[in-house]
This record gives sequence, C-alpha cells and structure tokens, in this order.
Amino acid sequence: MTDFTMDTGADGVAVITWDTQGKSMNVMNQQGFEDLDRLVGEALADEAVKGIVITSGKEGSFAGGMDLNIIARMKDAGGDDPAKSLFEGVMDMHGVLRRIERAGMDPKTNKDGKPIAAALPGTALGIGLEIPLACHRIFCADNPKAKIGLPEIMVGIFPGAGGTTRLVRKMGAMAASPLLLEGKMNDPKKAKAAGVIDEVVDDPLAAAKEWVLSEPKIVKPWDEKGYKMPGGAPYHPAGFMTFVGASAMVNGKTQGVYPAAKALLSAVYEGAQVPFDTALKIEARWFTNVLLNPSSSAMIRSLFINKEALEKGANRPDVPDQKVSKVGVLGAGMMGAGIALVSALAGIKVVLLDQKQEAADKGKSYTADYMDKGIARKKVTAEKKEAVLGLITTTTDYATLAECDLIVEAVFEDPGIKATVTKAVEEVVGEDCIFATNTSTLPISELAKASKRPEQFIGIHFFSPVDKMMLVEIIKGRETGPLAVAKALDFVRQIRKTPIVVNDERFFYANRCIIPYINEGIRMVKEGVEPALIENAAKLVGMPLGPLQLTDETSIDLGVKIAKATKAAMGDAYPNDEVDEVLFWMESEGRLGRKSSAGFYAYDEKGKRQGLWDGLEGRYPVKDNQPELVDVQHRLLFAQLLEAVRALEEGVLEDIREGDVGAILGWGFAPWSGGPFSWLDIIGTPYAAERCDQLTEQFGERFACPALLREMAEKGQSFYGRFGQEAKAAA
Ligand code: NAD
Repeated sequence: MTDFTMDTGADGVAVITWDTQGKSMNVMNQQGFEDLDRLVGEALADEAVKGIVITSGKEGSFAGGMDLNIIARMKDAGGDDPAKSLFEGVMDMHGVLRRIERAGMDPKTNKDGKPIAAALPGTALGIGLEIPLACHRIFCADNPKAKIGLPEIMVGIFPGAGGTTRLVRKMGAMAASPLLLEGKMNDPKKAKAAGVIDEVVDDPLAAAKEWVLSEPKIVKPWDEKGYKMPGGAPYHPAGFMTFVGASAMVNGKTQGVYPAAKALLSAVYEGAQVPFDTALKIEARWFTNVLLNPSSSAMIRSLFINKEALEKGANRPDVPDQKVSKVGVLGAGMMGAGIALVSALAGIKVVLLDQKQEAADKGKSYTADYMDKGIARKKVTAEKKEAVLGLITTTTDYATLAECDLIVEAVFEDPGIKATVTKAVEEVVGEDCIFATNTSTLPISELAKASKRPEQFIGIHFFSPVDKMMLVEIIKGRETGPLAVAKALDFVRQIRKTPIVVNDERFFYANRCIIPYINEGIRMVKEGVEPALIENAAKLVGMPLGPLQLTDETSIDLGVKIAKATKAAMGDAYPNDEVDEVLFWMESEGRLGRKSSAGFYAYDEKGKRQGLWDGLEGRYPVKDNQPELVDVQHRLLFAQLLEAVRALEEGVLEDIREGDVGAILGWGFAPWSGGPFSWLDIIGTPYAAERCDQLTEQFGERFACPALLREMAEKGQSFYGRFGQEAKAAA
C-alpha cells in the first residue's frame, strides 16, 4: 500500500491523494517522493487527464512535514562523501517538485502543460507547504485551527525542497522573512492575506477541480521573461535595504550561533541574483552545508527525533494504558492553576482543591482568563470556553477527590503540609490512585514516607508558566513503581508535553544544572567582572537569558531560600558562600528581582526592565582587567555541562536523550548545540576534559573533570557513541 493514490474522474481531473499509512498526519518519506513523482508523470502523460489536484486523505490537514530520518539516510548513503549524497538527494527532491511546477510545459514556449492545484484540508507545514508552492494554485479549507508555514528553522535547518526559493520569488524577501527566518505559522486566512496561499474556500477539492478545468494560465512568474522579484532583488535600492536589514535582524535574533539562519539568508541573497533553476541549486548547496553542520544534526536529533521518541514513551514501562480520566489538583496557586488549565484543555476532568473556596475559585479563574484571551484572538469559541471550564470542579472538601485516578499536589513547599495533604488524600481515593508531587526542591523519597503506598508516589515536576513550558520532569522516588511512572508518562502525553524521567537526587535534573549557571554569573559579579559582559557572554553562546536576568525573573528571595536550605543540608561541604554574599545583600536591599521592580536590573514604574542596575558597581567594583569573552562563556557553560555529566554518572539521568531534550525545553540550554551532551560531543571529550583542568586551576574545584568524562576523553569516546545506541529504541 503506498501513501499516494490517484483517481481520474470522468471530468478529466486526476486527483492524487496523500494518505500516510498509520499516521494521523501525512509525513513525507523517500518512497512518498517516488510515488508522487510517478503518479504526476502518469497523469501528465495520460491524454484523458486535463488537470491534476493534489490533496490529502486526512481530515483537517494536508501534511505535517518530512520524516527527517530521510536526511540521516541520505548522509549515510554517501559513506566517505556525505556532502555528495546529500546534495544529490536534495536535488532529486527538487526534481520532483520542479516537474510538478513545469507540468509538462515546453521549456521554450511555456505551452502544453497541465494545471496542477493543491487542495489543502488544513495544516500544511514544511514539505507539506513546499509541494503546494510548486503547484500552480493553492486552495485551502477555511479551517481556523490549521497552520500554514515553513517551521524548519526551529529544528536547525531551513526549507530545502525549493520552499525557500519559491516563497521568496512569490512574496519578496522582506515579506517572506518572518515565515522563513522565524518559522512563523499562520492560519489559512492570514496565510492568504500574506500571499503564501491563493484561496480560502469551503470545499478546496471542488474549487481546485473547477480551477484546473478552467484552462487557467499556469506558468509561474519566475519562468516568464522579464520576471522581477517583489520588493526588489539585492542590487535594487529597495532590495538592498531588505537584505541589509534582514542580515542585521538575523544576527540580532540568533546572536550568530545558528548556522541555518545564516545559510538561509545566503541562499536567498545569492539565489535572488540568478535564474530560478540555478537558485534551486544554490538552495541545495546551502541546505547541504547546513545538514553537514554538527549543530544542525544535533538540533534535528534532539528537537525532532529524540523529542518525539520521548513523547511516544521511549522510556515508558511496559504496562497497560494508564490514561488519566480525572485528576485532583491540590493547591490552586500559580502552579496548581496552570496544571488544572492544561489538564482541562486536554479534556481531563479536574478537581481543584485549596484551603479556602475563594482560593480554589481564583485558581479556576486562571483558566477562564486564558480562554478569554483565546476568544479575543479568535482562536477559541465561547462554547469551548464553557466546555473547558465545565471540566473543572473547585472545592475545599477532600471527599470530592474520591473518583480521581491521579493526584497532582502543588501546595506550599513545606514537607509538613505536603505530608498532611498526602494522608488526607489517601483517606478518600481508590487503591489504584497515583499520587504525584510537583515539588521543586524536596526529595521525593522523603515525601513518599507520608504515603501508605510509596510505590504509587512519584514526582511530576512542571515548569512555570505551566501552559507555556513544554517540559515535564518525572521523578522516581526510591520506591516508585512502574505503574506510577506509566501513569505520569500517559498524563504528560495527554496534555501534549514532553517528559523526561529521572531519579531522585537534590534538585532532580533541570534545577540541578541551572542553579550552577546562575551561581557562576553571580560569582563573577562578586569577582568584579562587568555585569554586561556576563549577560552578553551568555546570550552570545545561545542562552535565552543571562544568569542575572534569570535570577531577577525567578526572584532573589527564592534564590536565598534555596541557598539556605542547601547549606543546611550540605553543612561544611557547601561551596557557594561567595554567591550568597551577593544574593543575601540584594535581598537585604529589597531588590528581589522583577517582582519588586528592582534586582540586578533596573525597572521603570510600569515594571519594564531597563538596563543593568548601576548601584551594583558601588558594592562590587568592576575590575580593570576583564576576562576574555570565551572564558566567561566557558565558565557559564561548563557549570551546566558538568552537572549534566554528574547527573548521568550518578544515575539521576538514565538516558542522554532526556538530558539533551530536557536541557533545551526545561531551561533553554543553547538550543543550537542540541543540548549539553551533544555540545560535549561537538567539542569532543578530550578537549572538554582539558578545558575542565584549566578552569579548575583558574577558578576552583567546582570545574573538576568528572571521572566519566575523564575516562571517555582518554578513550576518545563521544556521548552518543557510547550511550546513544544503548538508549532504548523509540516506541
Ligand atoms: P503558590 O503559593 O502560588 O500556591 C500554593 C497554593 O497551595 C496556595 O493557593 C495555597 O492556598 C495552597 N495550599 C497551601 N496549603 C494547602 C493545604 N494544606 N491544602 C490545600 N491547599 C493548600 O505556590 P506555587 O508557586 O504554585 O508552588 C506550588 C508547588 O509547586 C510548590 O511545591 C513549589 O515548589 C512547586 N513548584 C513551583 C514552581 C514555581 O515556579 N513557582 C515551579 C515548579 C514547582
């Protein structure tokens, strides 16, 4: 059974339907390209066929994109010369799409071709839009939920099957920039207004058929003499402005660390100055260049292949389905309100419990406000809002939790309170109910002591804000059993987030790695490193927020609280007194971060962040001799990397894929690198170990090379070489 089938009606329209077997959305693979090419060829050769419509067999969508494993296969096929096989593979894809676009036309006269239209029932992403862009007209259903776009840049590549060249030629470089460089996706009406697609209609298949039978003009503007690019080519005065601006914008947004953005811009710039077929070759060369860049391979691996594998349950115990039907959320504060929202959005019934009815109701109003914002943006209907709100019951009465099959506790971070609520819940829920805590800092195994059923006790750690943050960290306590792990994973799947499963050690995984990053930044302030250098060094290496800004966002008093608790637990071994000196002083000055409109940064009356606070200098004078940028960057990065390696060494992490995906989604670890383990593989373990030794000598024992990294450096091993294959295959 192939993914593409063709049916030619009595009206002479050949309808090619794409329907990937076993998937809810179409995904392009190697065989798919061959089948599409063959069918288009047959239709063009068939005298009875007057026109062709390419559509999808899936309700509400045309296609979600390409199976990026194709790229790995193309690369592998090349053996010693992966560039050659990649380039040829990409040019083959171009060939298929170019044959659609030329549709049998005479190369000189542009005559005799057959019209080919795309009829999209909805979502068309990546190759799912590149194919329509090669057709002569694009019809899309009026489906406000559909997304139309080329989001490749988000996984570290760019549209390389002609989408870049065609979109720029269709819309102009300026108009195409947000779509290509930011991966911006639009609903069909906005996509039409932007000029990406041509028609939004009730019945795209019927409209497309009618159009192909209307003897339309089909030659693309760029295949006609005298074509001029909308907005001007690079050496046109308007075009000149566009390209200078785009180049600055790309560098501003990416800080120069994402190879795909630069390559994309080069493909557009160079391609704009030559005929279309040459531009396609240039696109293919730059695409190959990006695919061979270790950053792109690492991003594809972490953000596409491994992220998907984890979402599909790569590390799920082999037990029956544990889907949640009713969740009890304890504590309707910031986290509880968010957890109730994402659960109800996934169609799960929620009981939201707090100490006072007003508090519980306030938690529910978070969902109401969220839905109202959606209504204002026309993304949500009033009925949908009512349906979602209807799933949330607020209460102060534990008996209301009786039917819940999962409890997520998000009360105050206090072991005593958590123990009390655990016991109260177990009085009323069924034997099979799984109890999860959202604690950020308290050991799960300790909290589990309050439970009669520690094997059913687990950590489900959300990040704030719950509705935006895609990572959920699942923490196994010492006694947590497989049913609890499966329940947590099935819940995370229901709410469409990405899970990692880790073991129970101080700060679990994400916070364990991010705290040393923050501390290293603050430590440098104490040493007299220019705060702007610290912040910019972090951003120039791809961190979304500098450590000082991050401290302001998460609040200085929280930092103080964590520092005090950690010191109490570690005693003399506590290594962060220097950091605390700065933090505690900031707290004593009332500079608690964004929430008090005063922190490492200054804020205006409306709470908008201004520059770094100039009062810092009075207490921590800036040294005359400032360190090299790369040294500041390595301190900030190694502080995180080494924690990740230690987490693996100690068995907190069981799978490096989780370490990489969790780092990017959890705290924004330089996404261009593919995550800490991918980054170590890019620089190589021998260099990483050498750098640890230098940093230890200069800055102290916290940079000491972990034994695992030392051993790998000596053996010349990489993390994915050593641990990649062992990671369980994707489900
Ligand atoms: P919060 O103070 O906003 O909310 C806590 C809520 O729990 C309040 O509404 C309070 O009335 C309620 N509560 C307290 N005792 C209760 C009891 N005995 N019974 C019922 N309700 C009770 O706190 P938060 O920021 O939402 O954090 C909640 C939990 O989530 C904590 O364990 C925290 O460590 C964890 N967490 C917080 C974040 C974050 O960024 N804030 C992130 C991850 C995890």
